[in-house]
Amino acid sequence: VQLVSIKKISILGSTGSIGRQALDVCRLHGYTVLALTANKNASLLEEQAREFRPKMVVVCEKDAYNTLKTRLADTDTRVLFGSEGVCEAAALPQADIILNAIVGIAGLLPTLAAINAHKTVALANKETMVTGGALVTELARQKGVSILPVDSEHSAIFQSLQGNNKQNQVQRILLTASGGPFFGWTREQLEGVTAEQALKHPNWSMGAKITIDSATMMNKGLEIIEAAWLFGITPELIEVLIHRESVIHSAVEFADGAVIAQLGVPDMRVPIQYALTYPERLPSPAKRLSLTDYGKLTFFQPDSKTFTCLSTAKHAFEMGGFAPCVANGANEQAVELFLSGKIRFTQIGDLVAEAVETITLRDTLTVDNILQADAAARKFVLKRYASR
Ligand code: NAD
Ligand code: MG
Repeated sequence: VQLVSIKKISILGSTGSIGRQALDVCRLHGYTVLALTANKNASLLEEQAREFRPKMVVVCEKDAYNTLKTRLADTDTRVLFGSEGVCEAAALPQADIILNAIVGIAGLLPTLAAINAHKTVALANKETMVTGGALVTELARQKGVSILPVDSEHSAIFQSLQGNNKQNQVQRILLTASGGPFFGWTREQLEGVTAEQALKHPNWSMGAKITIDSATMMNKGLEIIEAAWLFGITPELIEVLIHRESVIHSAVEFADGAVIAQLGVPDMRVPIQYALTYPERLPSPAKRLSLTDYGKLTFFQPDSKTFTCLSTAKHAFEMGGFAPCVANGANEQAVELFLSGKIRFTQIGDLVAEAVETITLRDTLTVDNILQADAAARKFVLKRYASR
């Protein structure tokens, strides 16, 4: 028995960790995939296009575009190029839902394009909310468009809110964090961390950028901001809780003190699928949770003195305006420098904090100005690096 009508989906960032797992979900439930986009992985995109036969594929690198155009010439799939192509994929008239699984601020314009086209957005791209939260939530309100969270913590909060959806009842959000590979480490120990060490996450297998963000705890900082926008709640009401086992994916405390949480094994296919099938639930291949296998679950307070990204991100949100965008842009650039072996691990947090303190912009909050703030933050980080 088919419980849910066959959905028509466009997947932005289909070659990434979230994108590939989303295609697993589509394969399993026989969803129609209308568009696929990627930065430059032409071979994987070709493979995906041959399997799902989308109306269009988009790549953002010239060589990959030329390759793909030749390779898909025998199919009905159109091949488009660049950010404009991605925005076209995000606004395809036939789509029911757009999954944005792009990494970084490159996801912002496609999110806005999808909302402008009245499309429901399943949002994995947290940088959309961090950099453009004010604009995105206002546009979604105007257009009457839903933004469904894919990030596991935000999906858990969203699931915990079902049937209790009144803002004034939410007293507190418990945002859980694994603590990453360096939980309990001191600043001195962190100085010598290599990219290889930082890329090994204890509980999740994810793209490189978010894996580094998890190691610095910037990820949790970004998630505080993401939660603040998604659920219309101030950061003081969000408590970050280190929970090493990643079984409780987050929780909501209500006015009466009742706490409702969502639990499960760490498997992103669950939150991805929930966003795609909401408000229904469908079977999933994810392993079932066996609490006795765990025996006990542990909780600790975060060490934001050592993992400064957490407090910097929170501070940036409180500053408002372009500050979160500056923090995000500086972080994206610093992570890139760290991954290419150019700066030390601890410099990521230092550079993000410096950028937030130094770059103060007072223009009106428009998309163009957000992109300029992002560019200014990246330039600042590159300059600081070059002057060392
Ligand atoms: P990833 O690096 O594995 O994949 C990123 C995707 O975006 C790829 O398809 C890539 O081709 C595309 N892309 C990269 N740069 C682009 C650009 N400039 N323009 C257009 N497309 C571009 O990343 P991921 O781990 O899948 O994460 C994607 C997003 O989901 C991030 O915002 C991340 O924070 C969020 N997220 C990921 C996980 C996870 O488990 N991986 C969990 C929660 C949230
Ligand atoms: Mg998360």
